[in-house]
Amino acid sequence: HLQTEWLQIIANRDGLTGLSNRRHFDGALDLAWRSAIRHQRELSLLMIDIDHFKKFNDTYGHDTGDDVLKMVASRLTKTPGGAKVYRFGGEEFTIVFKGKYADECKEFLEEARKSIAEYEMILRDEESRPDNHKQGQKKRGNDSSRRKSVFVTASFGAADSKNGQAPQDVIKLADEALYKAKKAGRNCVRLH
Ligand code: GH3
Ligand code: MG
Ligand code: MG
Repeated sequence: HLQTEWLQIIANRDGLTGLSNRRHFDGALDLAWRSAIRHQRELSLLMIDIDHFKKFNDTYGHDTGDDVLKMVASRLTKTPGGAKVYRFGGEEFTIVFKGKYADECKEFLEEARKSIAEYEMILRDEESRPDNHKQGQKKRGNDSSRRKSVFVTASFGAADSKNGQAPQDVIKLADEALYKAKKAGRNCVRLH
């Protein structure tokens, strides 16, 4: 019995970030949605996508990309307002807010967005040096404490239970809002 519970917990968790995963999200959203509709309560859904992440991976490597995913996950879990955060897949996250419509979440989302954008990620030495080792030595000189740092941003799209008939609808609408945020220049929050 205990073993089954453990398997359940592991099956619902994303190994890299420690967040609940897509599988867990699907079940949780379904439940939260039904309850919100039945009791005419507010429910908001956020789609969050890291900006230009492919380029980031290409420039700094996949391992540093993984560090970014962990950083973003950890920042998002600090979002105030009773948010529940999931890794939706790849470089995409979702947040579910119970008891709030999207416009009521806006200030919390702005805070989350800023806390990612303002986070200075210090690169490990081997990640910031040029491919050519000699060139890297010359560039660094003898000062190994000089580390390069980078900043990362993410875009946010929000929709809520006023907007749709089913969980799939609200996901689609949040995705459209996310697309608007990307088109508006990224690193911003857009409501449906
Ligand atoms: P946009 O600003 O429009 O979102 O551009 P983007 O480059 O972020 O979007 P795109 O969908 O082209 O690229 C997503 C990248 O995310 C591609 C893939 O290599 C990377 N990625 C997805 N999952 C992981 C992961 O688990 N680890 C790492 N390091 N990278 C990942
Ligand atoms: Mg994406
Ligand atoms: Mg992206």
